[in-house]
Amino acid sequence: MEGALTARDKVGVQDFVLLDAYTSESAFLDNLRKRFSENLIYTYIGTLLVSVNPYQELGIYTLSQMELYQGVNFFELPPHVYAIADNAYRMMCSELNNHFILISGESGAGKTEASKKILQYFAVTCPMTESLQVARDRLLFSNPVLEAFGNAKTLRNDNSSRFGKYMDIQFDFKGIPVGGHIISYLIEKSRVVYQNQGERNFHIFYQLLEGGEEELLAYLGLERDPQLYKYLSQGRCAKESSVNDKNDWKTVSNAFSVIDFTEDDLENLFGIIASVLHLGNICFEENQQGCASVPDTHEIKWIAKLLGVDPWVLLEALTHRKIEAKTEEVICPLTLDLSAYARDAMAKAVYGRTFTWLVNKINSSLVNKDFTGKTVIGLLDIYGFEVFDKNGFEQFCINYCNEKLQQLLIERTLKAEQAEYEMEGIEWEPIQYFNNKIICDLVEERHKGIISILDEECVRPGPATDLSFLERLEEKVGKHAHFETRKLAGPKGRKKIGWMEFRLFHYAGEVTYCTRGESSVVVTSLCLQVLCSSKNRILKECFLVAELENRRRAPTVGTQFKNSLSSLLEILISKEPSYIRCIKPNERKEPSKFDDFLIRHQVKYLGLMEHLRVRRAGFAYRRKYEHFLQRYKSLCPDTWPHWHGPPEEGVERLIKYIGYKPEEYKLGRTKIFIRFPRTLFATEDAFEF
Ligand code: ATP
Ligand code: MG
Repeated sequence: MEGALTARDKVGVQDFVLLDAYTSESAFLDNLRKRFSENLIYTYIGTLLVSVNPYQELGIYTLSQMELYQGVNFFELPPHVYAIADNAYRMMCSELNNHFILISGESGAGKTEASKKILQYFAVTCPMTESLQVARDRLLFSNPVLEAFGNAKTLRNDNSSRFGKYMDIQFDFKGIPVGGHIISYLIEKSRVVYQNQGERNFHIFYQLLEGGEEELLAYLGLERDPQLYKYLSQGRCAKESSVNDKNDWKTVSNAFSVIDFTEDDLENLFGIIASVLHLGNICFEENQQGCASVPDTHEIKWIAKLLGVDPWVLLEALTHRKIEAKTEEVICPLTLDLSAYARDAMAKAVYGRTFTWLVNKINSSLVNKDFTGKTVIGLLDIYGFEVFDKNGFEQFCINYCNEKLQQLLIERTLKAEQAEYEMEGIEWEPIQYFNNKIICDLVEERHKGIISILDEECVRPGPATDLSFLERLEEKVGKHAHFETRKLAGPKGRKKIGWMEFRLFHYAGEVTYCTRGESSVVVTSLCLQVLCSSKNRILKECFLVAELENRRRAPTVGTQFKNSLSSLLEILISKEPSYIRCIKPNERKEPSKFDDFLIRHQVKYLGLMEHLRVRRAGFAYRRKYEHFLQRYKSLCPDTWPHWHGPPEEGVERLIKYIGYKPEEYKLGRTKIFIRFPRTLFATEDAFEF
């Protein structure tokens, strides 16, 4: 009927591969928009799931929905995060191999929510025995604890994960979840001491103050009001209506008991958290010699008590530094600025390492020694590509991580595609795509990569300045299609050094990094000595005395991150992939608002068009003969209601009857490959009406 809307016109197609004008970004966006306006937030590109954050509860995560997706063939139900989870699970169970689900997207796009939904799906739908319920609960309850310590309110997201997370869920041969393991990446330590306007520190600080019992706060020497703490009040939104700290404290306290933290663990842990707050409130004053002194030692005494360190040694460490000359060590006083810097570096190191301790502790509660030969599904909830007005070292690492993951996706997709055609005996022509290896090399190559150059600068005698770093970059990298440096006029009083920037042309767009202030922020050696002497049981594990001797040889943060990324990729390469790409629909956290400009940008940098092209390069669609027949058998009298011969012959009979032309399809060993979406479309439409 002319003018009548088909279902496809109204709600779009549930797989982008079925779009006619598949190479056009506008068609892609139109489809996404149509679906979003109908609250259909999920769409496939083949087996990749695109998810648009609805910013509202949609009622699509109920128990009955979970049951619906259990064990059902991937394409038979509307796209859903449960379908991705179920598909990985079924494949793992039937093929006894390991899987991972990579969830990416920018801040606020819904990565963490998606990973929680997947975990819940497994917790509810997987078989379970009574004795293994504890393991399942610990997996579930590790989340609120990690979120309390690793998430914070930012301008982009009220519950933003400020660390990358990879979590293995381990299953036994019956498919029962029996344990897990978590790896965390690069917690944003700078947030401990500074927050932008409208942002907060990590949730746990506020939760403790709002929800902590009177006796606990008295023991820690804390007041309830977060405004009293410098580290909590710089963003001017310590009290945030969208976050319920008091309730969250209860959830976290309960989670602590489920994952087996003892009273002693908690006493030590909160001793550290409180010490960070006390540290932040230490004020320095300039004495007559122009050096820093601490007029009020109230906070110092609390820290000394909570961390089990000598208050006078702590005081000296915060206001002095050790200079190692050839034959002797000299202790010199610090200026006001440098003392504040030493204090903040100490707070960051203490928090950062305590977070790592926390992850290790959770891991020891998730480990299940009784089960060997387990298979796993890994969930990777990792920060998306970031571009701010000012981009520092943390953005540099995050964006480098995205380059690596993009490379993995391209390689794995092409490889998987090629392998499939080969296995099925189908000829195809590979397509061109941008290989971002060149950018990864620029960052990570030995000797001439940016991280190497940064490392060299850190070990060079004399102060490493940002200028010398940039000069070395210019010299070593030289002319490169994806790199340039830029010198800006220095602000007043800093004319000598000037403001230096370098720019990388990432696969997802160009980013200018400002190198000021972010080069290796380290704890001064006197502060490190104090921390190594601590009697706090957790700090004792975090700061080993051996470190004092090996300081010079410790890898820099950049190298550490590079190494941890390379092990992550090793973990991922050995597993079967599934991908979820999350999209944020608008900047205001509003439901139903589809911001074209913002979304177009994400479609670009998430590499969705590229993925679609790869997916479509050979054959748009492929289906096992059995599944194809099952779905469309009603279209042909020979196959309806039952076909008793081999499925391949049934499919041949069926497509002959509905008129597929030879150029439209190929028959592989186990699957039918359909070249154009319109072919499948026509079949779908005939089937629907
Ligand atoms: P970040 O990188 O900052 O950690 P993220 O991608 O992990 O961001 P989430 O914390 O998962 O983002 O989502 C942000 C908010 O969006 C959630 O707190 C929730 O309010 C909303 N949201 C995300 N996904 C969904 C969903 N599927 N249904 C309803 N609301 C959602
Ligand atoms: Mg998150």
